[in-house]
Formats: sequence, structure tokens, C-alpha cells
Amino acid sequence: MPNFDYAAPTTLAETAELMSSTGTVRALAGGTDLIDQLKTNRRNADLVVDLKRVPELQRLDADSDGLHIGAAVCCSDVHHNPLVNEKYQGLADSTGLIGSVQIQNRAAVGGNVCNAAPSADTTPNLLTHEAVAVIAGPNGTRNVELADFFVGPGQTVLQAGEFLQELILPTPPENSASAYLRFIPRNEMDIAVAGVSSFLHLDPATRTVQKARVALASVAPTPVRARAAEAVLEGQLISADLISQAGAAAVESATPITDVRGSAEYRRELVNVLTRRTLNICLERIGVEV
Ligand SMILES: Cc1cc2nc3c(=O)[nH]c(=O)nc-3n(C[C@H](O)[C@H](O)[C@H](O)COP(=O)(O)OP(=O)(O)OC[C@H]3O[C@@H](n4cnc5c(N)ncnc54)[C@H](O)[C@@H]3O)c2cc1C
Repeated sequence: MPNFDYAAPTTLAETAELMSSTGTVRALAGGTDLIDQLKTNRRNADLVVDLKRVPELQRLDADSDGLHIGAAVCCSDVHHNPLVNEKYQGLADSTGLIGSVQIQNRAAVGGNVCNAAPSADTTPNLLTHEAVAVIAGPNGTRNVELADFFVGPGQTVLQAGEFLQELILPTPPENSASAYLRFIPRNEMDIAVAGVSSFLHLDPATRTVQKARVALASVAPTPVRARAAEAVLEGQLISADLISQAGAAAVESATPITDVRGSAEYRRELVNVLTRRTLNICLERIGVEV
């Protein structure tokens, strides 16, 4: 492991100052990606700034803006949070399947986002819940829609000196639900061959879809919204046939590669199947049968 300096600030102001230091500065949330990247020389650092001791980066609560997930909150805390399980079920799904319990106790949702792997499991749910990233930097904070946060594999809009402070997820309306499924060849400790999150808001009286969000992992250079599938669903009467149409439309948003985990064709088929399954889970969670 190459040498680097280490700092563990306890205030946001101190964190911002440290993150703006000269040289290569990297934030550490849980370190489950970063430490391995440093060990294997895939990343370098002059200074590593540990975010875990800053109270604002550990917040996990809701107010009129929605759910706030501080950048250092670990997956276990999110997975077991009662509000997440009640209103952001897809996020409860994904935070409960990252790595192992030990990894979930360490790894942050914010770290999963900032690592910007196309396969990151929490990101599709955050996209379907229309999360906003609050970015802190030397000149204060700026908000970026999470859909605009990713630039390429491992690349985000974060500029030198900036760090993710928190994610804010608007409060979902009544009669809505979300779900996340991924396909991996074994039961755990693997990277998604494909992952899909869906969000549905239904009018229970008319059974029409008020809002639909579908997002995909591992089938493009960045996590992507499946906008064609959303367009198929919105404003329509929910039915098994409509869900099949949405599954087929979601494939249009996938631009997968063929690699050791699966062929592009296989991944496209997974997107179709997982979209249908996650939409059906949303319906079950809302309590609507089709
Ligand atoms: C055994 C194992 C199994 C895994 N399984 C899965 C899995 O099933 N699904 C999955 O998606 N991932 C998996 N991962 C990858 C990893 O655990 C996740 O991506 C995790 O969420 C990363 O979070 P972290 O807090 O550890 O990030 P860190 O390692 O601390 O950070 C990751 C990257 O983001 C940057 N960063 C972190 N926080 C901030 C911030 N606030 N602002 C700016 N930059 C920041 C860091 O500098 C680093 O470049 C696995 C890893 C291991 C070791």
C-alpha cells in the first residue's frame, strides 16, 4: 500500500478545508472500494479524509424536503431504517444485498454513489426516487440531480475540492412503491450482471399510473433511467400487458457490453425480465393486483 496522510475531521468546515488541500485528496466513507483501489494502484492519494466522524454526514432523517442520507451513512443503517422500509422499499432492497453484512456495516450509500461503478446497486433506486446530490465545496454547496451526477465509469461531476455531503430523496406519495432486483450468478458477493429498480405511483380509484420511474445498472457506462419504459407506463391503465410492454421498452435504454459476466444479448433479456418483476413487486407493495 503506498503511503498517504490520513485525517479524520469532526466538522463540515474542517472537512471542506481538508478536501481543498493541495495534492490528490480522496474522501473515505467506508473505504470498501477506496482501500482496495489504493492497494492495487488503481487510485492514488496524498491525503485520505475520513468522513465517518462528521455528524452532518451521518444524518439519516426526514423533513419537508424528504429523506436525508448523509454521505457517510452505512448501508446497514439505511437497510434497517423504518422509514426507508415503509416508503423507499427499493433502497431497503439494494442496501441489504451489497456484499455481506460486514460490508454493509462499513460501506456507505454515498460511497456507492461516488465510486460511480455502472454496477452500483443503490444507484438505480436513488434514481427512481429522484434523489438530489448536495455537493459541498470550497464555495459552499450546490445541488445536482442524481441523474446528472454520473459522467462515465468511475467518473462524476465532482470537481477538485468538492465532496458529496448528502442525498435528498423527495417524500413519495401515498399509493406508491419501489423495488430493486439484480441478477448475479451466485447468491451473494458478486457484481450485478444487470440490475433494475422501478417506482410506481398509482391512482387506486382509476388504476392509472400517475408516475413511473425505471432505472438500470450494469448495462451502460453509467446508471441510466429507462425513459422509454416510463413513457409506456405513465397515464395508462395498469395491466399485465402494459408491464410486458414496459419491460420491452426498458431494453431500449440499455447499451450493454459483452464481458466475462454475460453477453450483451443476455443483459438485454435480463433488463426486460427484471423490469417486469420489479414493476410487479411495486404493485404487490401498493396492494394492487393485475
Ligand atoms: C467484498 C465486497 C463486496 C461488494 N459487493 C458489492 C455489491 O454487492 N454491490 C455494490 O454495489 N458494491 C459492492 N461492493 C463495492 C463497495 O462495497 C460499494 O461500492 C460501497 O457502497 C462503497 O462505499 P464505501 O463507503 O466503502 O466507499 P469508499 O470506498 O469510502 O469510497 C468509494 C469512492 O468514492 C469516493 N467517495 C466516498 N465518499 C465520498 C464523498 N462523500 N464525496 C466524494 N467522494 C467520495 C472515495 O474517494 C472513493 O473513490 C463490494 C465491495 C467489496 C469489498
